[in-house]
Amino acid sequence: MSSFLKYFPLKSYFPWLTLALGIGIATLPLALENAYLLRVWMLLLIYALLALGLNLLVGLAGLVSLGQAGLFAIGAYCVSILATKAGFGFFPGFVLSMLLAGGFGVMLAYPTVRVRGVYLAVITIAFGIIVENIAIEWSSVTGGTMGISNIPKVSLIGTQLSDVQFFYLIGAIFLVGFVLHYNLIHSRFGRAMRAVTQSEIAARSIGINPIFMRTLAFVVSAVYAGAAGALYAYLNNYVNPDTFRFADSVRYLLMVILGGSGTVIGPVIGAAILTYLPEVFQALGVWQQFAYGALLAFVMFVMPLGIVGTVVHWYGLLQPKRAHSSQPWPAPQAEVDDLLEHRIERDSICLRTSSLTIAFGGLIANNQISEDVRTGTVHAVIGPNGAGKSTFLNCISGFYQPTSGKVELLGQLTVGMPTHALARLGLARTFQNTELFGQMTVLENVLVGFHTSYKGGMLATLLRLPIFFNEERHFRNLAEALLRYVGLSDYADEQARNLPFGHQRRLEIARALALSPKLLLLDEPAAGLTHGEIEDLKSLIRELASRHITVILVEHHVEMVMAISDRVMVLDYGEVIASGSVQEVQDDPKVIEAYFGSAGTREILATPVATVNRLA
Ligand code: ADP
Ligand code: MG
Repeated sequence: MSSFLKYFPLKSYFPWLTLALGIGIATLPLALENAYLLRVWMLLLIYALLALGLNLLVGLAGLVSLGQAGLFAIGAYCVSILATKAGFGFFPGFVLSMLLAGGFGVMLAYPTVRVRGVYLAVITIAFGIIVENIAIEWSSVTGGTMGISNIPKVSLIGTQLSDVQFFYLIGAIFLVGFVLHYNLIHSRFGRAMRAVTQSEIAARSIGINPIFMRTLAFVVSAVYAGAAGALYAYLNNYVNPDTFRFADSVRYLLMVILGGSGTVIGPVIGAAILTYLPEVFQALGVWQQFAYGALLAFVMFVMPLGIVGTVVHWYGLLQPKRAHSSQPWPAPQAEVDDLLEHRIERDSICLRTSSLTIAFGGLIANNQISEDVRTGTVHAVIGPNGAGKSTFLNCISGFYQPTSGKVELLGQLTVGMPTHALARLGLARTFQNTELFGQMTVLENVLVGFHTSYKGGMLATLLRLPIFFNEERHFRNLAEALLRYVGLSDYADEQARNLPFGHQRRLEIARALALSPKLLLLDEPAAGLTHGEIEDLKSLIRELASRHITVILVEHHVEMVMAISDRVMVLDYGEVIASGSVQEVQDDPKVIEAYFGSAGTREILATPVATVNRLA
C-alpha cells in the first residue's frame, strides 16, 4: 500500500480509477441482456459499499468486526419500517437508517476502551446475534421470521424508478462512498487511525486520542453498513432475519481480507468475487461450498495480503532498489526555525514536580521527587538501571498516574490529564525502545506528528475543501523540512521499520519536533547511535535549548550528559540523591557511590564513553 500512498495527493491514480468505475457503471446496463444479471450487479455494488466501510475499520483502524451483518440489518429494517409503517420516502429513510446505524457504531466502539483483538471480535459477534434475535422476536415491529414485505419500489420526485434507474442510483451512491472512503484514508484522520493501530503509545504521545479514532472508525463503517442495508431492503422489497446471520458477517470480513484490507480498491474486488463466485459455482451442484472454500484458502495462501495488497507488494519488489544515505544533522532549515520558534521567557519554570511519588505494588519507583526544570535548559536525569528514570518521564507525560504529588507544566497542573492532551500543551517525547509507526513511510511518520496542528475538520477532509489541500501541502513541506533537519530526507519514502536503528532514533526526534514542543523528553536517545551521530545529537540538543525549548534528557552516556546539560538530577532506587549543576553532581560522593560503586572516583565521570558504559 505504501507505494500507492506515495502518489498522494497531487499525482494521483485515483481520479482515473474513479472515472473507470463510473464509466463501467454507466455502460453496464447496456451490456446486460437480462434483469437477473442486473440484480446481481446491484447486489455486488451494495456489498462493495458495505465492504468499503468495513475496510476503514479493519484495514485502517485494525479492528476486526464480525457483527457487520447486524449493522446491515439495522439499516435494512430501519428503511423497511419507515417505508411500510410511516410512509417515508426513499431519501429520508435512507438518511435516517445511516444515522441509526452510526449510533449503533458508537455503541460498538465503546468496548474498545477496554478490550481489543479476539475479545473485541467476540463482542461484535454477540452484537450480531442480538440484532438477529431481536429481528426474530420483536415481531410486532419486525414481522418476526416472516420479515417485512411490500416495501415499495423507490420513487423519486413522484415517479417510480425502473430497475435500470435504480441501478444507477445505487451506482451513484456507491461512487460517492468510494470517493469518501479514499478521502478518509488519505487524510490526517486516515493516518492517525493507522498510527493508533501501529503504535498506540506513540500516537498518544503526539496528541492523538485513540478512543476518538476507534470510535470514528466504528461509526463510519456502521454508516456504510446502514446505507448498504437500506439499499438492500429496497432492492428486494422484502427483508427477513435470514439475510443477517453470523455467516454473513464472516463473508463481509472475507470480502475485505480477500481483496486486500487497507487498500482503496481491494474491498470492491473482494465483494465482486464473493458475490459473483456463488453464481458461477451453482453449476457444481453439491460441490459448490467445497469449491468456494478451497478457492478462498488457495488465494489467501498465495496472496496473504489479499489480492490488491499482494499485487502492490509484488510491484514494489520490482522497483529498482535505491541506495540511501543520511546527512549530518541538525542541518539548518528556515521552515524549522519558524516551527520551533517559541518566545517563552527563558529562566521561567517550565516544569515543576512536587513530591512526585509513584508505587507499583510495594516498589516505590519514584519517591517524593521535587524538581524545577527551567525553560530553555537541558535537564539531565541519570542513575543506574531501574532507578526510575523512565518512570519519571512516564509520570510527567501522562502515561503513568502518580500515586501522589503534583506536576505543573508551564504553570498548569497536569496530573490526571491524558497523554494526548499533554501533547497538545506542547509536551513531546521519545521512547527508550523506539516507537515508530513501522509500516508507514518516514515522511508519514513525521506528518502524523502534525495531526493536532490541522484546523480543517472532518467535513473539509471528506469534501476536499481548499483548506484541506492548503494544509496538506503546508504540513508536507514542514515534514520534509524536518527530515532535512535531521538528515533523513533521502529516506522519505522508505518504510520506517526498514531504517537502521540510529536513523529510527533521529526520525522519532523529528516526529516529536513536529509537535512544536515546549518541553521535550528524550529517553536514552544516544543508545545505539554511532560516535559521529552522538556528536550530532549533542549539537541538536544544545540547539533546541538555544531556541528556548526545554529538554529533559535521560541518558546513560555520561560524557554526553556532562558535556551538554545545564543541570543534572541523579536518581537511585527512585530517590533523588543529588541535583545541581554538572560540577556539583560530579563532585558529589553519593553520586559516585551510587552510580559507579565504591570504586568510583571523579576521574571515572570523565573517562571515555566506552569504559563508562561498561561500568554503568
Ligand atoms: P530506569 O531508570 O532504568 O528507566 P524504570 O523507570 O524503567 O527504570 O523502572 C524503575 C522501576 O520501576 C523498576 O524496578 C521497574 O521494574 C519498575 N516499573 C517500571 N514500570 C513499571 C510498571 N508499569 N509496572 C511495574 N513496575 C514498573
Ligand atoms: Mg529507562
